[in-house]
Formats: sequence, structure tokens, C-alpha cells
Amino acid sequence: MVQAIGYAAPAADKELEYFEFERREPTAHDVEIEIAFCGVCHSDLHQARNEWGGTVFPCVPGHEIVGKVTRVGDKVTKFKVGDTVGVGCMVDSCGHCHSCHEGHEQYCDSGLVGTYNGPDKHSGGVTYGGYSNRITVTEGFVLKVSDKLDLAGVAPLLCAGITTYSPLRHWGVTKGTKVGVVGLGGLGHMAVKLAAAMGAEVVLFTTSANKVEDAKRLGAQHVVISKDPEAMAAWQNQLDFILNTVAAPHDLDAFLSLLRLDGTMCLVGIPAEPHPSPSAYNLVAKRRSLAGSLIGGIAETQEMLDFCAEHGITSDIELIAMDDINEAYERMLKGDVKYRFVIDLATLKQR
Ligand SMILES: [Zn+2]
Ligand SMILES: [Zn+2]
Repeated sequence: MVQAIGYAAPAADKELEYFEFERREPTAHDVEIEIAFCGVCHSDLHQARNEWGGTVFPCVPGHEIVGKVTRVGDKVTKFKVGDTVGVGCMVDSCGHCHSCHEGHEQYCDSGLVGTYNGPDKHSGGVTYGGYSNRITVTEGFVLKVSDKLDLAGVAPLLCAGITTYSPLRHWGVTKGTKVGVVGLGGLGHMAVKLAAAMGAEVVLFTTSANKVEDAKRLGAQHVVISKDPEAMAAWQNQLDFILNTVAAPHDLDAFLSLLRLDGTMCLVGIPAEPHPSPSAYNLVAKRRSLAGSLIGGIAETQEMLDFCAEHGITSDIELIAMDDINEAYERMLKGDVKYRFVIDLATLKQR
């Protein structure tokens, strides 16, 4: 085994703290990575506090990982020592179900193996994530990262980036598509950048008037304050696709009615309490669809990283030291981050 250090939540009601644990020695198909940066995703906080249930403690969160390869197993062909690589939300899947066969590992019938708090077939325990100095991952779940981009800004692409890229691609967003993005947080700011880079006309919906300038800087052509009924009415039946990134329960009808014939609204946020049920009329009247999407497969995540390298896209981040993680969680709860915290793992030292 290999000694590793990190930060873990010892219990749901405790702050994260320094934690020593072990990683496996790389097997024939494994890649060992020294972690340089790890993004802080809202789901890290949910799981560290057991808000979704099922968290095994101690829990080392983190699934937006970027680093350098330090060792590879004998059978590894895609990576070599020194390569810059990334790891996202999953580190394994069954490999033989219908979804896995089609490259949609995130929809594995047996359930994906999460990068943290997932069932670790190697240890028999749970997986530990990226708030740590190193990680060992089977090569099929490791991504190539271009050195052209700022690596700290790349880290959030591994969750926030692919979560928004995959539905934009799946629903055929391209030049001229009228795309609504609901919410300007970690996910929403990536959705605006990516949709704009795909050539879409982007309309950002927010409740905060103070986000208008930022949304335009990120690539939105129009910004609508969703609390303003007149501003909303002007977009009735106009949009081809809406990516709704808001994870708090809200009135979906207000947005569904903005879709044109055959338009789709895709949800990527998962509220702790359900949304109020949308009206069937709003769907029926214009053959609209309400859908959902979960991260993206490994091949598509690589495609997204390559797209971002080609278009110079990274996340807007605030770099923090490992010790600042508990304060970062409190600020994240207040929405006080533009737009993603990223941990600089160089600040994590052996004690
Ligand atoms: Zn995430
Ligand atoms: Zn599977």
C-alpha cells in the first residue's frame, strides 16, 4: 500500500480535517497520479454532510482532479509518467452492461463507482477522492489534459464542465441554437461559456440583477431577471433548449413556457426537495420535453476537454489552500464564489 494524506469529514456534523490513509499499489491497468488541483463541487458538501444519505465516514471528497502521472502499471498503454491527466466523478463501472458498452459509463446499470464514497472493489471499502495528495485509478477512467490551459481552471471541467457539455451536445446545440441557461453558479457559468463556444445564442436567466455584467462577459447575449414577469413573457415560445442548473426547488413552468415547439428543458441540478410538478398542459401544448442528464461518459469527457483546449475554455476559479476548505463550504452555501473554489494541493503537507 501507498501512504496518502488528505482532508476528510470524520462525521456528518464535523468539519473536514487532516487525514492519513492508504492507496493501493498500482495494478497492471492502474495509473498513479500526484494531484495538483481539485475543484470543490456542491455535491462534495452534500456528501460530507450526509445530506443525500449513505455517506461512509471518514469521507475524503473531491471529483474534479488534475495532476501528473507518477507511476503506471505494466499493461497501461494510454499514459506514461509525467503526463498531465484528469479524473472526474467516476473511477469505475461494470464494463459490460448496455450503457457501459455504449460508452455511457455514468448510466451503468450496476451504478457507477464514484471517485469518493463509492464501493471500492480493490479495498472492499469506499473510494477516497481528490482532497488528497495522490490517487490511483484504472486507466480507462483517466483523461488526458492539455498543458495549454491553466490547470487549476481545468479541474472544474471534470464535473461542472462535462455536466453541462454533455446535454448541450446530446440535444444538438450548434451555431444559431437559442439556448436558455438557468442559474449562474458553478454549472451555469460553464454552460454559458460552452454554449457560446458552440455558436449558440445564449440567454441567461438569473434572480440576481448583479450577475448581468458577468453573464455577458462569460458569453451570454441576453440576460433575463427571472423574477420579472414582463421580461420572462418576452421570451415565451422562443428557445430551442434550456439547460436548468438550479438545484433548489422552483416553478419549472416559468421556464417550460419559454420553449418553442419540440423544445426540451434539461435539468442537471438535483434539489433535496422535489420541484413542484410542472403542468401537463405546458408540455402538451407545444410537444415540449422535460429531461435530465448526469455528467458524461469517459469518451465524451475527453471530447469536452479537447473542445475546451481548442477554444481556450476553463472555469473561473478562486484558488484556495487545503486548510481553507471549511470556510469555502460556508461561502459556497451563501453563493459567495465566482464560480468555483479549487484547492491547490501543494498547500497540503504531511503532519
Ligand atoms: Zn461534482
Ligand atoms: Zn455497466
